Amino acid sequence: MEPIKVTEFNGDIKDACKDFEGFSPLACMECENEDSFETKLFLLSREPRNEAEENAIDSELKKFGFSSHSILGGKKCLALAAKCSKCGSEEIFWDF
Ligand SMILES: [Zn+2]
Repeated sequence: MEPIKVTEFNGDIKDACKDFEGFSPLACMECENEDSFETKLFLLSREPRNEAEENAIDSELKKFGFSSHSILGGKKCLALAAKCSKCGSEEIFWDF
């Protein structure tokens, strides 16, 4: 199987997943910061099917300073990465 291609996505979340307009990081689960996050979206060539593929995505994300992600499936598959600007945690709660 082809390895998943990870590319930086500079558009808005709704440009890839219409139903997810407004979906964004809301709170850091470590320090309860609610205002300041560093966020990046990545377009994936397909959805990951196992842990090894999830890990391969994480190692691509390391180049951009992130070490974990959530997957947003749909017409286009996105990996969402967010980091708390206050404490640096990537344990971030996303919602609308
Ligand atoms: Zn925090």
